[in-house]
Amino acid sequence: MKTIVLASHNAGKLKELQAMLGDSFQVRSIAEFSSEVPEETGLSFIENAILKARHAARITGLPALADDSGLAVDFLGGAPGIHSARYSGSGDDAANNSKLLAALTDVPDAQRGAQFVCALALVRHAEDPLPIVCEGLWRGRILHTVQGKHGFGYDPLFWVEEHSCSSAELKPELKNSISHRALAMQQFRQRLGL
Ligand code: IMP
Repeated sequence: MKTIVLASHNAGKLKELQAMLGDSFQVRSIAEFSSEVPEETGLSFIENAILKARHAARITGLPALADDSGLAVDFLGGAPGIHSARYSGSGDDAANNSKLLAALTDVPDAQRGAQFVCALALVRHAEDPLPIVCEGLWRGRILHTVQGKHGFGYDPLFWVEEHSCSSAELKPELKNSISHRALAMQQFRQRLGL
């Protein structure tokens, strides 16, 4: 069995990834090795995922996988983008959603297109010149008010056309099977031949 390290301190992500990769890989968390978090200096989701993966590989000496995700709104030139988690400064979901609504005041539906983005990067070692990179994009539209109680982050503002509801109104299992993260993970499994 191959061991890889996940460059995330989030136990939920570790579980999700282990389930996705099955028995062929043992996934360990970077939290077992270090609490040091690298500065995310990249300008794109992919750059930050690679940067985090390299950092984890450097610390552990193991192949490392990292993810980076967020919301990119067309009208805002892709903002909040890589700054999604701390868009409002506080890192609080409600404050982030309020700031987004304020930035889109009076913007009509036709111009409220957006996408959730998830980038995954796997490096075999810290200097790997050929990381495996996958990107999942989930298109939607930003609502005018929050609706729905499931999910997290910007889910209450993200209208999912094919299900006629916000992503916070989707059952979690359904969201997890169609989301940006699911799309990136499907690609990743294919790339690994799983
Ligand atoms: P991270 O990559 O897990 O740190 O996520 C970055 C930020 O993007 C989160 O804090 C959320 O604000 C936003 N985000 C990422 N994925 C989702 C999602 O599936 N639903 C809602 N917000 C998300």
